[in-house]
Amino acid sequence: MPELRRNVLDLTHADLSGLMAGWDQPSYRAGQVLAWMYRRFAGSWDAMTDLPRALRARLAAELQFTVPEVETERISADGSTTKALLRLSDGVTVETVLMRYAATERARARNTVCVSTQAGCAMACVFCATGQQGFLRNLSAGEIVAQVLHFARALVACGEHVTNIVFMGMGEPLANYAHTLAAVRALQDPQRFGLGSRHMTISTVGLVPQMLRLAHEGLQVGLALSLHSPYDDARRELVPTARYRIDELLAAAQEWAALTGRRFSVEYALINAVNDTPQQAEALAERLRGLSCHVNLIPVNPTANARTPRSRRARVLAFEQALRELGINVTVRVEKGVDIAAGCGQLRGEVEGRRPRAASALTLAPPGDALPAVSSA
Ligand code: SF4
Repeated sequence: MPELRRNVLDLTHADLSGLMAGWDQPSYRAGQVLAWMYRRFAGSWDAMTDLPRALRARLAAELQFTVPEVETERISADGSTTKALLRLSDGVTVETVLMRYAATERARARNTVCVSTQAGCAMACVFCATGQQGFLRNLSAGEIVAQVLHFARALVACGEHVTNIVFMGMGEPLANYAHTLAAVRALQDPQRFGLGSRHMTISTVGLVPQMLRLAHEGLQVGLALSLHSPYDDARRELVPTARYRIDELLAAAQEWAALTGRRFSVEYALINAVNDTPQQAEALAERLRGLSCHVNLIPVNPTANARTPRSRRARVLAFEQALRELGINVTVRVEKGVDIAAGCGQLRGEVEGRRPRAASALTLAPPGDALPAVSSA
């Protein structure tokens, strides 16, 4: 069996510098390679024309440099959301989404990429299409970074760049802790994307040891805790793999907030007549009172699961109002890409269900006033 070559996207800047030093290359070579990959978006070693031919040949022989194949890609009717299904080198597919937000009086324009950290997911949330597909494997840091690179390439063609990352795609990021953190550091690296850690958010259904570990990393990455219910029993109906009680989760999130000086967000997927009653709003407010947090209400995405219909608009607004009146910071997340199956796992479910090979070239609509403004944190 041939030896698997390392993927250059998995190497840190220090790894690449060490490799170049070991090959008796000048110290600036690592920077040159990174600039080709992340500033000039070269698609192959051969495109890196100011590297000596012999070095390019050695790089090609010893390192893999492959960008994921686009299985299919869809753009929402308003042009603000693009969802790609990417096929990785071993054939598994993962979803990644670009959400473009126009500038408002209070916020600059943003290009947010929602990345997957696992192929599939073992958490089995009943309202999530990915959760119904099971778990395949963890993604490497390079495979997470490749998703950002995919959209960065497309954006540069319209003079824009990626500004924010949310680790909210397929998978539980904290169950793939080492690779998720390595991806965060790669995205921070000034020679790669140079993104501030405040511009990234990691979501979790609540793995307490990893949340506490994250709190001690010295990073300013945001934390989003997916709660979905104020009651342990009811939460376990929605997140059957939940291992920790809500009070344990909130204590860990509050410790994270105390150590980072940031508010955490509480994600709450609203399901009609399941978790959106006035009593639940009251119980949630009781749980969150005094904590350093902000609630994001998310009308659950339509999936094949008839048990989890999305809350009707009036119920969403009533739930929001009730929380606000009880002194909780709350917003309803602006929905994006519903028309292109942008809910987690929906596109993969559709495509893998019928297995077409419909690769498409990505063309982005120019950003403009038509893009919806964001109202959630
Ligand atoms: S909502 Fe997130 S954690 Fe839950 S099954 Fe879906 S991908 Fe996994």
